[in-house]
Amino acid sequence: MDLKNIENKWVHQFAKPIIIAGPCSAESESQMLETARRIKESGADVPIFRAGIWKPRTKPNGFEGVGVIGLNWLKKVKEEYGFRTATEVANAHHVEAALAADVDILWIGARSTVNPFTVQEIAEALNGTQKPVFVKNPVNPDLALWIGALERLLSQNVQNLGVIHRGFSTYRKTKYRNIPNWQIALDFRQEFPNIPMLVDPSHICGNRTGLAGVAQEAFNVGYEGMIIETHCNPDEAWSDASQQITPEVLADIISNLQIRNSDI
Ligand code: PEP
Ligand code: MN
Repeated sequence: MDLKNIENKWVHQFAKPIIIAGPCSAESESQMLETARRIKESGADVPIFRAGIWKPRTKPNGFEGVGVIGLNWLKKVKEEYGFRTATEVANAHHVEAALAADVDILWIGARSTVNPFTVQEIAEALNGTQKPVFVKNPVNPDLALWIGALERLLSQNVQNLGVIHRGFSTYRKTKYRNIPNWQIALDFRQEFPNIPMLVDPSHICGNRTGLAGVAQEAFNVGYEGMIIETHCNPDEAWSDASQQITPEVLADIISNLQIRNSDI
């Protein structure tokens, strides 16, 4: 089995587009449950709830995530509202804790994808898991590093894979927080057409106004879904406040998207 002919049966469990929504960070049980309840009540077709428990922050001494207690809140979100759950893992301890708490989907963040030692450690901790694992593009525009991370997972018999396009760091001031560099994602897609690709408009844009446009651009070229930061009170969010939206705005964005059927 190689990345080109991977089967990725997991993807058929979900209607397309596959939408993952929820806060950048888990902050409290009530924040998690209110966000989940309002996503449900909004009527948006969101099967998967995201929240960061361990947060990679650019500077030290800020909020670095609530840690393992957040896994209990994800569990409650699953029990009370029926969402599958997703969180970021950045080392083997995170993987062990997330698997023990039965988080349904794990992702490797953009700052981890750049580090082969980290990816290898995560891949070994995940060995043989059937759970879907997503790999965000590395912060720098390096396609080989992105592919290499997937190869490390596959060689640990992790076969339910997906990728997340979250844009690339830039020193220049642009309208994006992370420039999309669409061509890199399209090159990835052309090489590995069986690996589902999700867009992360939140981290590409870094603001609320650009989200719908970036998501639409991705769906225009056949992406399978998106992961989008959604918070019950975005202005007060403890991380990435400027890009988070309410569940009601999310529902509105989703209902205005034009979705093209893809082949996966
Ligand atoms: C996140 O999804 O909240 C996150 C930290 O993303 P990234 O790894 O893309 O910066
Ligand atoms: Mn974030």
